[in-house]
Amino acid sequence: MRIHVYDVVVIGAGMAGASLAAELAPHVRVLLTEAESMPGYHTTGRSAAFWEQCYGGPQVAPLTLASGPYLREHGMLAPRGALYVARAGGAAAVEAFETTFAGSGVRLDRLDRAALERRVPGLRPDWVLALSEPTCADIDVGALHQHYLAMARSAGAELRVSTRLERAEREGDAWRLAFGNGEEARARVLVDAAGAWADAVAVLAGARPLGIAPLRRTIAQLRTDPRPAADLPLVLDIDGGFYFKPEHGKLWLSPHDETPSAPCDAAPEELDVAIAIDRFQQVVDWRVLAVERKWAGLRSFAPDRLPVYGFDPQVAGFFWFAGQGGFGIQTAPAAARLAAQILLGRPRDAMTEPLDAALYAPERLTWRLV
Ligand SMILES: Cc1cc2nc3c(=O)[nH]c(=O)nc-3n(C[C@H](O)[C@H](O)[C@H](O)COP(=O)(O)OP(=O)(O)OC[C@H]3O[C@@H](n4cnc5c(N)ncnc54)[C@H](O)[C@@H]3O)c2cc1C
Repeated sequence: MRIHVYDVVVIGAGMAGASLAAELAPHVRVLLTEAESMPGYHTTGRSAAFWEQCYGGPQVAPLTLASGPYLREHGMLAPRGALYVARAGGAAAVEAFETTFAGSGVRLDRLDRAALERRVPGLRPDWVLALSEPTCADIDVGALHQHYLAMARSAGAELRVSTRLERAEREGDAWRLAFGNGEEARARVLVDAAGAWADAVAVLAGARPLGIAPLRRTIAQLRTDPRPAADLPLVLDIDGGFYFKPEHGKLWLSPHDETPSAPCDAAPEELDVAIAIDRFQQVVDWRVLAVERKWAGLRSFAPDRLPVYGFDPQVAGFFWFAGQGGFGIQTAPAAARLAAQILLGRPRDAMTEPLDAALYAPERLTWRLV
């Protein structure tokens, strides 16, 4: 059998793997492999599709902010705006939120009840305060994913679907890789962009898992009366109990669930949808006419909830690109650019200059490796 030889093999063709392959391909020979028959089948295909500067916290915000110009330039963003809403008695939560993001470059404006009512019709009386993040936008996730796959291909990267990594052995200064479909490959660098399976892929390669935990998140698409206006902002509970946004006359609603899960083809639970609707009905007086669609996906987090980009400190040639949590779409451009620069030893550029790579380095988690 012919063994194909590459500089870098990237495992997983979701947003993480596709974007990194696109950034690497102009410089090195890249193979991007995906276990499923369709790239983007898992978490990437299940997102709520927003770019929100606060989402993921102040140490993720630099990645989101650095990605904004690229996303805008490529036509991936459409204005939406976000409101973090609070009940009476929620002033302390609003202040804490403002303090958390002070100095982060994120703009937050306070809204009182009158301003809030104008943005969210039918709002129940106990919601009296909000923080507005006006630059929040919808992201065209499918277009962004295809953009990166096309970029990778046109720079010479190969994409193989239905090609699940099953064995990875170090031979000299290279990896010998074996896939479930019988194919084999060699590469100097193995990139773990396997999302919920990131720790499992690390174990295959003899690296210690970093504790990357998949957490299930549910979304229901509702038909409501009234129909949500097209310019309804993304409305998020400042205490993290729900979010909702309009989508072509329907409402996308999440109970903001984070249920630990094994890596799998995640499916929604009836109970999570019921909880979401119950919380929604405490926010507005709208009638829920039907649950038209529901889905769930796995958001994967390192123990400190920051992403992991960089070479494993103990296993030569093993590169982590994992833990993209709930922000892997909105951070994709800057994350992929930074990771490619680290992997190739190339200098920073205007997009990545403001980023502190040490925040995202696997070494920060090495206390787990002793
Ligand atoms: C409900 C929900 C809402 C979200 N909303 C947003 C949002 O609004 N904005 C935002 O920025 N982010 C959002 N996210 C998060 C975002 O979707 C993720 O951060 C991102 O999709 C992660 O991409 P990924 O490529 O790491 O993972 P995935 O898309 O899961 O890709 C990993 C791939 O690796 C493959 N793989 C695994 N093991 C192997 C193997 N052994 N061999 C080959 N391939 C393998 C898998 O098949 C999979 O396709 C949301 C997530 C969910 C679930």
